[in-house]
Amino acid sequence: MERTFLMIKPDGVQRGLIGKVIQRFEEKGLQLVAAKLVQITMAQAAAHYEEHRDKPFFGELLEYITSGPSFAMIWAGEEIIQVTRAINGKTNPVEAAPGTIRGDYALRKGVNVIHGSDCLESAEKEIANFFTHEELACFLYPADPKEGMTT
Ligand code: UDP
Repeated sequence: MERTFLMIKPDGVQRGLIGKVIQRFEEKGLQLVAAKLVQITMAQAAAHYEEHRDKPFFGELLEYITSGPSFAMIWAGEEIIQVTRAINGKTNPVEAAPGTIRGDYALRKGVNVIHGSDCLESAEKEIANFFTHEELACFLYPADPKEGMTT
């Protein structure tokens, strides 16, 4: 089963949006594999956003992502990257469609409530940056129990 790394950023945690965000992914039929509140270190943040290190917003991005607790999660499901990025909405909340998390709950690019991995390879790297193997739940069946049944 494909999996991805999703994270409610400090603004989303502080505004009390954890429950609403989780509800969207659960209702879609995805499966929560791991979740925890984390105070991201500067080193973790720099590794997580390494691809943006030369961008003008890098410093502000690290400051924002380490400014308070984030809620790190692993979710599994079919076409998980495409599905979760569609639910998150466009990076710039002004362009994000209503009905998406960013479209409904954010206004500024730099403070946009949620992170979602952009491909399966990034997801594995990001999961390793935030979780140990022991922290992951091991389910016998996928979110839809019918999918796992053989009879
Ligand atoms: N970001 C920003 N200014 C920009 C572009 C991005 O502050 O002009 C921040 C924003 O929080 C975004 C993160 O950097 O979520 C990572 O950018 P990316 O392009 O990877 O977007 P995402 O995959 O998060 O939609």
